[in-house]
Amino acid sequence: LSERLSGILSGLTRRGSLTEEDVNAALREVRRALLEADVALEVVRSFTDKVRERAVGAEVLKSVTPGQQVIKIVNDVLIDTLGGEGEVIGFDAVPPVPILMVGLQGSGKTTSTAKIAKRLTERNKKKVLMASLDTRRPAAMEQLAILGTQVGVQTLPIVAGQSAVQIARRAVEAARLGGYDVVMLDTAGRVTLDDTLMEEVAQVKAATSPHEVLLVADALTGQDAVNTARAFDARVGLTGIVLTRMDGDSRGGAALSMRAVTGKPIKLVGTGEKVDELDDFHPSRVANRILGMGDIVSLVEKAAQTVDADKAQALAQRLAKGNFDLDDLRMQLQQMEKMGGFGGVMGLLPGMAQMKNQLAAAKVDDKMIARQVAIINSMTPAERRNPDLLKNSRKKRIAAGSGTSPEAINKLLKMHRGMADMMKAMKKQKGGMLGKLGGM
Ligand code: GDP
Ligand code: MG
Repeated sequence: LSERLSGILSGLTRRGSLTEEDVNAALREVRRALLEADVALEVVRSFTDKVRERAVGAEVLKSVTPGQQVIKIVNDVLIDTLGGEGEVIGFDAVPPVPILMVGLQGSGKTTSTAKIAKRLTERNKKKVLMASLDTRRPAAMEQLAILGTQVGVQTLPIVAGQSAVQIARRAVEAARLGGYDVVMLDTAGRVTLDDTLMEEVAQVKAATSPHEVLLVADALTGQDAVNTARAFDARVGLTGIVLTRMDGDSRGGAALSMRAVTGKPIKLVGTGEKVDELDDFHPSRVANRILGMGDIVSLVEKAAQTVDADKAQALAQRLAKGNFDLDDLRMQLQQMEKMGGFGGVMGLLPGMAQMKNQLAAAKVDDKMIARQVAIINSMTPAERRNPDLLKNSRKKRIAAGSGTSPEAINKLLKMHRGMADMMKAMKKQKGGMLGKLGGM
């Protein structure tokens, strides 16, 4: 009987694996979407290689085509590559904390400086001073001063005839004397990357040791974004990126390109000309915009949920018969791992709270889950079905195989025994939760 049940269980998950052909066919479509989204060619290549590595051999969910399954994997890799959510601007330093804004002319540096200053003042209750280091265009200094008035943030008084480095030093000094928390330095840009620009930015950096060096880049620049980001990162070293003009038609390929090439997080997104049009960066939203296949992604996510529910049902039926072997425990642990912690199959079932508590009492955290799955993987099928076989010599073998210790195995067995006993006890309660499930 248990043979048949485990056959059903694996049938639920294994409709088949993705072949190299499945993956390549879907990737042709993906490559086109990425290029249309203006992702740099070199990034498209390395990205699709990464996807191929992850996708070939991966399992295909029931009710989903191989192509759809690949798209979901592409989406996951895309979100991973775009990086974490909520990377914030750091202040963990002695005030005044200098923040240096760099980038090409017209990318939105001055506007973003004022937007960030406003946010830091209002949300983080920081006292901010802004200074324009743009010595070539007097209008640029005026622009920042006007924005400062608009957002209620102080700007450094303009003194004619000073170099960018001199102004930067004066700004930091004024911020220190004035008791400011943050001093934002808005540098001059050039239409194209050139050495004079880089040299000036590098000197300002050396003179002020900024806590953050933020590259401001226009999402509409697409392919060029890579060169800009790479050049600034190589010469001055970036700590993050502010992506502007995401309110425009851009599909956001620049975000992927810059992140992939520099590895630096995209911290904020500009969504308009107004001073409050600044957003946090949401990788999943940008991934959807780049790929434009959100429908497929949610379809596959739904299918994955169905599989989980099916598995939960099969497991429940098994439990209702009072069976709970180490294969079942492994399945439960893997579900928990997949769903990012406690919850798992048990979370999907009513009346299973007790079992969750058992796991919690055994202090099963995410790292431990991986270790416990490794232990069970190192057992033979017979041992998994009948843990009583596990005498010391077998435990030693399993410990060696899973890179753990016999104590860790004892702990796991103890937890399993506790859970199995509970199952049996619940089965005896006639008409109880499990009894009902068993009758299904
Ligand atoms: P800078 O030369 O890098 O300092 O760029 P500016 O801050 O002067 O911005 C250049 C132009 O882009 C201005 O007209 C800004 O209003 C506009 N701008 C900046 N950020 C955004 C944005 O996120 N969306 C839109 N639509 N326009 C922006
Ligand atoms: Mg400017």
